[in-house]
Amino acid sequence: MNRREILTAGSAAFVASPALASASSARTILTGGPIHTGVAGRSPAEAIAVEGSRVVAIGSLRAVRAALPRAKEIDLAGAAALPGLVDSHAHMTGIGLREMTLNLDSVKSIAELQAKLAAWAAQNPTGPIAGRGWIETHWPEGRFPTRQDVDAIVPDRPLLLGRSDGHAALANSALLKLAGIDSSTASPPGGQILKDASGEPTGMLIDNAQALVESRMPTATPDMIRQALVKADRLYASRGWTGLHNMSVSGEDLIALKALALSGEVQLRVDNYLDIPFATEVLRRGPSVDSTGRISTRGVKIYSDGALGSRGAALLAPYADAPESEGLLLTPEAQVLAVLERAKKSGAQVAMHAIGDRGNRQSLDWFERVLDHAKTNRRWRIEHAQVVSPPDMPRFAKLGVIASMQPSHAIGDLFFAPARLGPERLKGAYAWTSLLKTGAVVCGGSDAPVEQGDPRIEFYAAIYRHALNGYVGPDWGLEERVSRQQALGMFTRSAAYAVGAERSRGTLAVGQAASISVFSRDFMTVKPADILDAKTVLTMVDGKIVYEG
Ligand SMILES: [Zn+2]
Repeated sequence: MNRREILTAGSAAFVASPALASASSARTILTGGPIHTGVAGRSPAEAIAVEGSRVVAIGSLRAVRAALPRAKEIDLAGAAALPGLVDSHAHMTGIGLREMTLNLDSVKSIAELQAKLAAWAAQNPTGPIAGRGWIETHWPEGRFPTRQDVDAIVPDRPLLLGRSDGHAALANSALLKLAGIDSSTASPPGGQILKDASGEPTGMLIDNAQALVESRMPTATPDMIRQALVKADRLYASRGWTGLHNMSVSGEDLIALKALALSGEVQLRVDNYLDIPFATEVLRRGPSVDSTGRISTRGVKIYSDGALGSRGAALLAPYADAPESEGLLLTPEAQVLAVLERAKKSGAQVAMHAIGDRGNRQSLDWFERVLDHAKTNRRWRIEHAQVVSPPDMPRFAKLGVIASMQPSHAIGDLFFAPARLGPERLKGAYAWTSLLKTGAVVCGGSDAPVEQGDPRIEFYAAIYRHALNGYVGPDWGLEERVSRQQALGMFTRSAAYAVGAERSRGTLAVGQAASISVFSRDFMTVKPADILDAKTVLTMVDGKIVYEG
């Protein structure tokens, strides 16, 4: 069979579904800008040909045209293509829910707050409304907003709008009723329920009084979760991400995600790591993939410790700025070991959150014990690997454990991390290069919505290790910066490796998945600060264009 006959046969197979046929028989050539392959030692290609979901040719324009005649050509007009970028640590529902929170930062009066709220309520017609960011200091009305101000717009569903400092919030009458707050409710210790002349609550809750309603804000409804996932998918595609490793996923999230992938509303690739209560199935049967081939269930997410900012990260010695505190381990050892044994048996991946040097050492100890002290190919991962004691660094490579790290954490945390850790421990913090030097696989992510979830910021932070405004402290450890090739690898090859997919994705080469991220500026050559100004030009997932700028 010659090439043409293969194509004809392939097309015939898709006649039953016109939509699928057009998506799967697409023949596209991208050219007109540098095409970085991600393959070590290979210089950028002039053109790349995509047929169906795969790369069928890459190299000079002539050779690529010859390999795929009659293809639609897309002119990159100087934009630069990278192997599809993947966020190796994100929380997809949270990213979408962040987009669904009303931002009132710029509001200059109660009238404007009402107008913004009305527009928001119209766009989000169901479920509770959460907003934040207002501050009344310079408003012409010269007073706090009241529940009557917002009841006029949102009378029937719970509404909570936080003041910008976090020390006060406005609830509407529907939420007050849900929380059982009325004229007879006393203010709690450390808080105040503001009341009007007739003794009725005004809706303003100060400090600890906010807790009375926060727990009553309904958790996200199934409909909100679906909306959030679609919003996150669209946002991420628009930022040039082709996929993400979705962390701390619930059973409900996963069901919604699979349905949305099937209907075409979620177009990115999503590899899921479920919280322990929802991981029974994956722990029993190991990794699986849905019928679209894009939604995978990889394993279980476990928390070993907390976070550095709130001093919850478990340290081997007390915090430098809080000698009475060493942070804490979160999951009982017996439970961790039981989960690890089940994962070992089924082949499920383990993704273990570890921030402090004690959290990391303990996680490695647990892994080592369950893996019988041997190097394995199980792709177990430590999420964050943020502060690692130098003797523990080589243990990642020795055990075959992946370090899943977030460059943006460094440029945010380094403003306070030196105080928390002191100079000695700081040497093992956000130590990307040190870990790479030991031979460990380091995949890169953002931890959005904790961070922005922006590949430009992650790449910039990885290669430059300066704050976004260009600031760098004397103790920010610039020797831990990585090269551009290494940074690219963290978000492509190593991201693929971290989900066991390195044979089919992560580089642009013949036979590999055609997932491509195109930006107006070349991440591999421009000044670090210029990366932050790049625009997403095109995002392609498995041969399908999911975003065009
Ligand atoms: Zn996270």
